[in-house]
Amino acid sequence: MSFDAPSSAGPIYLLCRNVAYANDIVHQLSLFGLRCIAFARASAVLAAIHGDPPLAVLVDETGCEDMTLPQILPMIVRLHDGPMVYLSQPMPAQEQIELARAGVSDFLPKPFDSHRLIDQIDRMLEAQSPQQARVLIVDDSDMLTHWASNVLTMAGMRVRSVKNPLKVPQLIALEKPELILLDMYMPECTGDELARVLRQNPAFDGIPIVFLSSETQRGRQLSARRMGGDDFLVKNNDPDELIDIVTMMVDRYRRLRELMSRDSLTRLLNHTHLIERLLQEVARAHETVRPLAFAMIDIDHFKSVNDQHGHAVGDRVIKSLARLLRQAFPGADLVGRYGGEEFAIVFPDTSLLRAAQQVDVLRERFGEFRHASANGESMAISFSAGVAQLINGMHAEQLIETADAALYQAKAAGRNQVGLAR
Ligand code: GH3
Ligand code: MG
Ligand code: MG
Repeated sequence: MSFDAPSSAGPIYLLCRNVAYANDIVHQLSLFGLRCIAFARASAVLAAIHGDPPLAVLVDETGCEDMTLPQILPMIVRLHDGPMVYLSQPMPAQEQIELARAGVSDFLPKPFDSHRLIDQIDRMLEAQSPQQARVLIVDDSDMLTHWASNVLTMAGMRVRSVKNPLKVPQLIALEKPELILLDMYMPECTGDELARVLRQNPAFDGIPIVFLSSETQRGRQLSARRMGGDDFLVKNNDPDELIDIVTMMVDRYRRLRELMSRDSLTRLLNHTHLIERLLQEVARAHETVRPLAFAMIDIDHFKSVNDQHGHAVGDRVIKSLARLLRQAFPGADLVGRYGGEEFAIVFPDTSLLRAAQQVDVLRERFGEFRHASANGESMAISFSAGVAQLINGMHAEQLIETADAALYQAKAAGRNQVGLAR
């Protein structure tokens, strides 16, 4: 588990004369794993931008001690080509236009709402570090494999290749490709035979399969598609066509998967996919005789948050917990939104105590958040959790029930605590 922002993220600089206010923002962002450094002097922030380029620069309306805003903004823009966010009370449009002309890229109204800023930063991070596409090439020809592999690697993709099609199911589980480039004719079996087998396994369903072949006969191409191929590329040595098709299909696959497997408010796994992951991990834990823990988390008195502050504030609280979880478990493919204000975490290879400790760290962190309420004041919110451990012969369902019982005990014992199943 890690609370660090991705290492490529870089720091966030804040220019602000009000030290107490600046420290508060620094603290709020640190809770989300973001490294924010505050400066009261223009000369210091300029030196920092020069020495360690930031992800974003925040400029508070109080500005700095040694320059006026019209002086400092153009100097920041000259050194920093990333986002510059201006924090202020609501202001007239004319002023906003002038600031935008001076290089301000985003405006954040006060009172400072860390969630809005963090949403913006998440979007910037995602745009900055697109994930490498993972491609699996299945072909018995070295020449073709080398060519396609080179073309795609040069385009920034991660490529694995295999000659024997019978090894593909195993490789998919291991490499989790987002597209399979499949030769039509190989000694062990044909490409369409393999595609048919892959399409029969629900776990593989949806991975785009592109046939790569010298086959130009239309009928043959169509029959290959009927067997589960998504597209058909004729081997013509056109690198751009290969890159375009692969990029397009991986994008589409990602969007579809995201829609299917993630909850839209939190971007965590939805209930169905969380359970699917748990089933996989339970099977693996039994097979390998490794420990497995499972945690259920439920926000305390959440109904009264909604009742007192409205649904929008409630949604933001849910999002803040989700972000904490995403941050703590990069990739977030073991963390899900179990239901409304309930979350669950699968802990492979982890003992009951270790998992409970990790959840307790999260509980403390979450308790430190100050959530902006509807009237602009801040409030603290807690969660309770139950953690259970897989024991011999136990089914996933029983593991969930056991964790749920531990959660119930934590609630009964006063909430804001982690219960351990016994
Ligand atoms: P406890 O401490 O016992 O967990 O009490 P609670 O009020 O948190 O529990 P309860 O199950 O009574 O209420 C959960 C509330 O969560 C009810 C429901 O309206 C709300 N809720 C569920 N999903 C969402 C959502 O997506 N957004 C918002 N804002 N509220 C939601
Ligand atoms: Mg609940
Ligand atoms: Mg609750």
